[in-house]
Amino acid sequence: MRALLSGLLLFCTVGLFAQNFDDYFSQRTLRIDYLHIGNKHQEAVEISAYKTREGWTGTRQFLIEPNRYGDVLFEAFDSLTMIPIYSRSYSCLFNEYRTTVEGETIVDTFEECINMPMPKQTILYRFSSFDRYKKKTQLYEGYFNPKHELMSSTPSKPYQMMDLQVMDLHIGGKAEDCLDILFIPDGYSKDDKELMKSDMRRFCSYIMNCSPYKELAEHVNIRAIKGYSEESGITNPNTNTFRKTLLNSSFNTINLDRYLMCLHVWKLNDIADLAPHDVIVIIANTAKYGGGGIFNFYCTVNNIGTHSDYVIVHELGHLLGGLADEYYTSEVSVRDYYPEGVEPVEPNLTTLVDFDNKWKRLVSSDTPIPTPATPAYRETTGVFEGGGYVAKGVFRPCQKCTMKDLLYNHFCPVCKQTLIEVIKYYTND
Ligand SMILES: [Zn+2]
Repeated sequence: MRALLSGLLLFCTVGLFAQNFDDYFSQRTLRIDYLHIGNKHQEAVEISAYKTREGWTGTRQFLIEPNRYGDVLFEAFDSLTMIPIYSRSYSCLFNEYRTTVEGETIVDTFEECINMPMPKQTILYRFSSFDRYKKKTQLYEGYFNPKHELMSSTPSKPYQMMDLQVMDLHIGGKAEDCLDILFIPDGYSKDDKELMKSDMRRFCSYIMNCSPYKELAEHVNIRAIKGYSEESGITNPNTNTFRKTLLNSSFNTINLDRYLMCLHVWKLNDIADLAPHDVIVIIANTAKYGGGGIFNFYCTVNNIGTHSDYVIVHELGHLLGGLADEYYTSEVSVRDYYPEGVEPVEPNLTTLVDFDNKWKRLVSSDTPIPTPATPAYRETTGVFEGGGYVAKGVFRPCQKCTMKDLLYNHFCPVCKQTLIEVIKYYTND
């Protein structure tokens, strides 16, 4: 297991900035809540609040994120020396919205937040966004002084009083040394108490029985918040179904019927702050198949269905690994997602524009590129055409993968390696 983690090529070869965590940070978390506002042609960030809580469960050895798979980059610098001391990349609903028809003209507002270890001194911080052509736009630049800035503590009183409790499901080690996954239930009323408990345990077992999580079990923690909704079920505007729930999750996000997401990101994070967490998974009590996963943001799954085991590990692939969908026939409202002539940022797709920096090292020299999708190459890691919602011009690593097919515990070697590296990112040994 240790050998699996220590042999990570990518983490050794990227230019890491190795500074001592204690030189710059204290053992607390700083959360910056902000609004991401705009449409296809314009965007802006508006800071809403600074929040703080005890402890820091994120990485302490990869403070400058080694791989950027997201659309937004947050960077913090020591304000006196301008030494970069922390960065985090992630994707967001806003950037999906702006690729839709509505997003071309209508300005909309999305809640977002970023967590970082609490700086000891004043920092300069920046938000930048990247479009699908990798053009960088700086959205915001500001200072934060931990001694002067007004900060509220989380979890705040209302959430402490809501009878929310933390349930340990799988504990591999200390929070600061592990990837901490937190389940938050939505649409479970008090009458669904037993169902909620059994669902949380069931989804935990789906993750822990799937490779590579099962081999790295001592580096993973999974907890759940026991929280009830006023009403049972999930809102679906397409069927005029409206439910009062803990997180107000809803189907039909950005007009995509089975896209089940939560727009109340600050409330979601206020509740999550009750437990140590690096990533949040919403488990929604609904028989309607749906979900979604956004890199370093959060993911959702529905609890009922024959493929729940597959759905949770697929969505976690998006959330943790920044993995792209490898399928290419689907109801998807995003357009021009992988433009011609641009190498996708996602680790499991290529347009062959910069394949050297993708999984070329995993492809043997006698495998043709592109690789024909024939029985002879059924188990081969190669370069197969079709992926990222398009049949031509975008390539994936294998014929079959959990990011492409309805197959549980079947990540291709490229996706698996990416997830191993992510678990290493959160592991501080
Ligand atoms: Zn894959």
